[in-house]
Amino acid sequence: MTIPSSSPYVVVGAGIHGLSTAYHLAVELRSRGIGSGADVLVIDKSSPGSGASGIACGVVRNNYFQPAMSELMQACVEVWESDPEAYHYNAVGYIALGAAVQEADLVATYERQERIGYRSELILGAADVDAHMKRLFPDWRAQGVTACLHEHQGGFAFNMASVMGLVGKCESEGVTILSGVEVTDIELGADDAARAVETSRGRIAVGEQLVIAPGPWAKRFWAMLGLPPTIDVHLPSGDVARDQPMWTYWNLQEGEITVDPLEFATADGGAPPVIHLDSDAPLVTDDGVLVTDELWGVYFKRDRHGVQGGASPLTVDGDVELDPYPQTTNVDPGFPDMWCAALSHAMERFEGCRVAYKDARSGGVGAFTVDNFPVFDYLRPNVYCVLDSNHGYKMIGVGREVARVLLGDHSSLLRPFRFERFATGDLHPVSSSPYPWS
Ligand SMILES: Cc1cc2nc3c(=O)[nH]c(=O)nc-3n(C[C@H](O)[C@H](O)[C@H](O)COP(=O)(O)OP(=O)(O)OC[C@H]3O[C@@H](n4cnc5c(N)ncnc54)[C@H](O)[C@@H]3O)c2cc1C
Repeated sequence: MTIPSSSPYVVVGAGIHGLSTAYHLAVELRSRGIGSGADVLVIDKSSPGSGASGIACGVVRNNYFQPAMSELMQACVEVWESDPEAYHYNAVGYIALGAAVQEADLVATYERQERIGYRSELILGAADVDAHMKRLFPDWRAQGVTACLHEHQGGFAFNMASVMGLVGKCESEGVTILSGVEVTDIELGADDAARAVETSRGRIAVGEQLVIAPGPWAKRFWAMLGLPPTIDVHLPSGDVARDQPMWTYWNLQEGEITVDPLEFATADGGAPPVIHLDSDAPLVTDDGVLVTDELWGVYFKRDRHGVQGGASPLTVDGDVELDPYPQTTNVDPGFPDMWCAALSHAMERFEGCRVAYKDARSGGVGAFTVDNFPVFDYLRPNVYCVLDSNHGYKMIGVGREVARVLLGDHSSLLRPFRFERFATGDLHPVSSSPYPWS
């Protein structure tokens, strides 16, 4: 395979962000009459969807305590809703159920959703939450839940199918996508602008701009750009946390049970919303073994072959070697018991589901920034970086915003994610959730 020696726009990474950026950039170039998809080249060391985007559970939700995340997610849901067929998007909605400690966060999130026009309802109090859930699922039996945010937008998409939907859209605009081309270095000029990328297939000169969307391989590109491995973080209090590692890793815990997918339906036979359940009730397996009596959380959705979902991720000590998604299960040995116990805790229909747990390729590593929120910014004069801190399969609309920024527009949605926030103290508020991404 010969590769082009140059391209006006080079996008590294054919995951959800690289492909969405490439597609929307092609559309913008054409509609502004200043170019076309032929000016955009996407390169990937493996193939489209071989990174995090191809293994993600695919949950699309707005439930974020941070105003900037919530507003950005509203724009992303708009993109999912723009072409559900191509994106294999299932607009089934999303329900977040929380324990008393999370009530205030869910109320604040709901009130913001009301203000920005994101369709949702809030139910408070254990009895009312229980009644709401029983109307949907008569065998609902979860305890320790006092707040329910029912988002009537969002849902989930099938991971590889949506990636391939984006590939199709890119190709229809004339974008070239090259698999098996690994970036090994970035050639920076005296002005720090990228001149070219060095790849396993040779050098590709960057005519205008370079976009980096590397998913969990972010740290490697951080180093290629000559950025520091640790940074000082200026906190809103005025204190400074010195020498914080810019990148850390968490291991995402996800799995599935193989059951008839139609077993997981609403009372009227409809498609169920994605469910996210956090509870402080004791969690016990169907065999009576206590899993935990501290706050726990799981999420689950109907999948093609059963029910798929996950639980809180585990921290990973130190660095991760760069094969975050081997062809095996990537979860902690305790995860299947915990997750299946939680399904059974939620609904009687899942009692005994542990035997249906499938030991398949699932879960894997995500790279997180120092504050666990994305960095979407120019990190060199013509190098735009889409570093989503593992929030981002749902963030299909980020590429649309990035495309406009590449062409000189301002994005008020992306501005809160600029790298400068660590120096100015404009950090995102922190929620009471046990997850690093809520
Ligand atoms: C187990 C798991 C479950 C998740 N579930 C959800 C979920 O339900 N909802 C949600 O919103 N998010 C979820 N996420 C997070 C989400 O998957 C990621 O945030 C998102 O997919 C990242 O997209 P990306 O395009 O940045 O990266 P990726 O999809 O990882 O794509 C990066 C691409 O860059 C390529 N690449 C890397 N290095 C090089 C190089 N040197 N040269 C050339 N190419 C290179 C890779 O091959 C890869 O294809 C989950 C993540 C994991 C791991």
